[in-house]
Amino acid sequence: MRGSIPPPADRGRPGRPRPSRLPGERPQPPRPPGDDTGCHILHVDMDAFYASVELRDRPELRGRPVIVAHASGRSVVLSATYEARDYGVRSAMPIGRARALCPQAVIIPPRHGLYGAVSKQVMAIFQAVTPEIEPLSLDEAFLDVSGALRRLGRPAFIGQLIRRQVAEQQDITCSVGIAVNKFVAKLASVHCKPDGLLVIPAGGVLEFLHPLPVAALWGVGEQTGKALARLSLRTVGDLAATPVGVLEAAVGKAAAAHLAALAAGRDDRRVERTVQEKSIGAEETFAEDIGDPELIRRELLRLSGRTAHALRAGGYAARTITVKLRLSDFTTITRSRTLPDPTDLANQIYATACALHEGSGLSSRARLRLVGVRATGLVPAASAVMQLTLGERPESWREAERAVDRIASRFGAGTVRPAALVDGDQAQRREPPAEPPAAPDARRP
Ligand SMILES: [Mg+2]
Repeated sequence: MRGSIPPPADRGRPGRPRPSRLPGERPQPPRPPGDDTGCHILHVDMDAFYASVELRDRPELRGRPVIVAHASGRSVVLSATYEARDYGVRSAMPIGRARALCPQAVIIPPRHGLYGAVSKQVMAIFQAVTPEIEPLSLDEAFLDVSGALRRLGRPAFIGQLIRRQVAEQQDITCSVGIAVNKFVAKLASVHCKPDGLLVIPAGGVLEFLHPLPVAALWGVGEQTGKALARLSLRTVGDLAATPVGVLEAAVGKAAAAHLAALAAGRDDRRVERTVQEKSIGAEETFAEDIGDPELIRRELLRLSGRTAHALRAGGYAARTITVKLRLSDFTTITRSRTLPDPTDLANQIYATACALHEGSGLSSRARLRLVGVRATGLVPAASAVMQLTLGERPESWREAERAVDRIASRFGAGTVRPAALVDGDQAQRREPPAEPPAAPDARRP
């Protein structure tokens, strides 16, 4: 969970000028790398990725607040330099709010193709270390380096090797968290950003975790945060000291078990190589181009349902959701978002698809001839521990969606549909509704 740990005290003070940093210039983090014995999981995360890539071409902007975003009113911050973050600017913040916080920020429109190309080269650096890579998005990945130790050396050394190669080859910086499991490694990289490396020794996990706020734990959203606050549980240590029965009464049995495990530093999820070549999705070409956002959302709802159904039918969960929007003049844009954890749920896919459509930068007058929803970064659902979005009862959603699957398999697809789809919009579409779920195909993301 990005940004759930309050930044170190030297960050977040508005207006304080920061020295420009070039890759490799910054000294190593103040604390010496701890004992990395048994710490085989690395979380590598590029620092302010899109913005850092842009600064390679605009070195005169180094040291200044820079935001990557579409300039249009409805768009959101895609990336911001640490100088902009000092003013409170954050990723996913509406651009209007970011401008109000930091009027002097330079706003650069995104170049998604370029970021994809840089990402491929960064992932190739990881690939040279180990094939055991689980990309979480364009700019971050988990690596399990246990098979690389004999060839390359200790985990902390491998972390430094990766940081050096990324800086030398790509002229951007990254931060590396190293720990015994994914959850702690990811918190470690957040903690040492930017341009840092932090080892959490196997014997030092609790010492690291317990002072953190409960919001640092995966799955603690607003609802759960409130429930824990009612128990006066502020830190992970408070949570760890609370009897499970008390937690169960506050947040339910599954969530309590999940939180108790994390607070004890336990996370059994393995680094899962994604099934790169596979994607699952559905798209629809309209009989007439449509511009009404309500109709577009309705189509996204239908396509999200088909995609989720096909994922469950194939036994997959997806990390990344992509929306494809083709305009009446055949210009095609795609927007992707990687989720914190893989999903096979229509409601999560739909929410992501809507957010991508909202943030696509399309003018409100744009008319679409096609929309598509695609799921990539597939992992076997059986091995994926899906995010507990606590308070939103995802297990109930999953049960409900599986029930729909069962009914559909008995009575035909389209028998059960979201209420928003029931009042006949069939005339909008060229194909009948009762088609089989989209099949997995071999398209690359
Ligand atoms: Mg990053």
